[in-house]
Amino acid sequence: MKIYVCTDLEGISGVVNFDQSGRDGKGVEYERARRLLTNEINTVVDACKEAGVEKIVVNDGHGSGYNFIIEELHPEGEYIIGGNRKRSFEGMDDDSDGVIFLGYHAMAGTENGILDHTQSSRSWYNYQINGISMGEVGQHAVLAGHKKIPVILVTGDTAVCKEAKELLPDVETVAVKEGYSRTCARIIPPLKTQAMIREGVKKSLGRIKTMRPYEIEFPARIRIEFQATDIADSYERNDWTRINGTTVEKIIGRPQSGQVLKIY
Ligand SMILES: [Zn+2]
Repeated sequence: MKIYVCTDLEGISGVVNFDQSGRDGKGVEYERARRLLTNEINTVVDACKEAGVEKIVVNDGHGSGYNFIIEELHPEGEYIIGGNRKRSFEGMDDDSDGVIFLGYHAMAGTENGILDHTQSSRSWYNYQINGISMGEVGQHAVLAGHKKIPVILVTGDTAVCKEAKELLPDVETVAVKEGYSRTCARIIPPLKTQAMIREGVKKSLGRIKTMRPYEIEFPARIRIEFQATDIADSYERNDWTRINGTTVEKIIGRPQSGQVLKIY
């Protein structure tokens, strides 16, 4: 079995503010958050290995793509790090059996979603495919689903787990914290959440055969609402249709075989 793991930082145990996510500069708190992330990755790799997974590829998906503490990574995994990527799921085999979203966050506009955003916390507001509002869980489920690969496990706060379940009813989830605002949460200590994540990996692998990929219908209508008009201006220059001051739209056809699906 082959498992691909996409990681983000905002939904890792104990991460609740933008100092930790490194959005506004990378200080001491960001360095601590990297360690929390690396520990969770090692838990997932270890749990996959224990369950007999042959190949585990872990993608550093937050910000610049350079967050893992390399010298502390579990020796049995393979890791994709660094920027200037040519595609979203770099290093993912087309015959992967399942995808895990580790440390994800709720879509922009979610009440009590820790560090909620969609793509950019400074410029994007609402994103829809075929009328369904989606955050990064949905967008990434679409990209994996296009390759017929199901999302089997999502970890993060209670809000992202709820969002994932609404879109992907079969998915396994592990909530490692519950938001009381955008930057305040009741957290479960990492030493405990690691055990919960280990259990979640085990459960999701046990049910993997019953999980279905999330596939969209084509032609697909992509709509993005931004926080300000200037971003919409730049999308309009790149051939998106202007709907109103802050909103653009594009209709995309089914990609030919070998073509990459681009949804933003
Ligand atoms: Zn992130």
